Amino acid sequence: MDCLFCKIIKGEIPSKKVYEDEYCYAFEDIAPVAPVHILFVPKEHIASVSELNDSNSAAVSKIYEAIAKVAAEKELGNGYRVISNCGPDAGQTVFHLHFHLIGGKPLGLMCDK
Ligand code: AMP
Ligand code: ZN
Repeated sequence: MDCLFCKIIKGEIPSKKVYEDEYCYAFEDIAPVAPVHILFVPKEHIASVSELNDSNSAAVSKIYEAIAKVAAEKELGNGYRVISNCGPDAGQTVFHLHFHLIGGKPLGLMCDK
């Protein structure tokens, strides 16, 4: 499968690794929008939130545990945002489920009204 994030997980495309465990891999976003911008991806290929079901959703809770750990390590105690864009209206560009951890500055409103 021609998936950018699967290739990053396998090490076929370089990335700046931040965290890894049995379920997930985390690396720095190549185009950060804040001082901390890290992507968390399940090691299993799942296209987006829309593809989650009873057999693959355990990875998501593991990812959130990892996000909490990394956010503490990065000293984001003042707050941060976790985003998963799903589909065209949300601007998803890579179709391997991922969660953006964004922080390190005041983030403003989440989106335009
Ligand atoms: P999304 O638009 O929610 O699908 O997010 C995809 C993210 O992947 C964007 O924030 C990109 O900057 C990021 N990205 C694309 N290619 C790479 C790469 N090779 N290494 C790290 N991040 C990447
Ligand atoms: Zn993939």
